[in-house]
Amino acid sequence: MPRRALRTRSRKRKQVRTPGGRLVTHYFDERPGMPRCGVCGKPLHGIRVEKPSKTSKSERTISRIYGGNVCTSCLEDALVNYAYDLWTAYETQASQ
Ligand SMILES: [Zn+2]
Repeated sequence: MPRRALRTRSRKRKQVRTPGGRLVTHYFDERPGMPRCGVCGKPLHGIRVEKPSKTSKSERTISRIYGGNVCTSCLEDALVNYAYDLWTAYETQASQ
């Protein structure tokens, strides 16, 4: 039985034959999961899935507002709704 920190499916494992003939399992570093949209949960593209220490800032994010947190379709919907709200507020002010 491996120690508790190693007992997870997100670690890659490999069966290795030792010089004495035993078959042992070697555990590798845990891989981070795919980054996902905060609204719909779809996986985000353009972000490298590595340990943060191994990648530069530009590889970890997208240079757009809410880039790396929200997908393009959800951001477009939010911006359209915001513009609509602004427009209706302007219309009600103008009619009074
Ligand atoms: Zn989304």
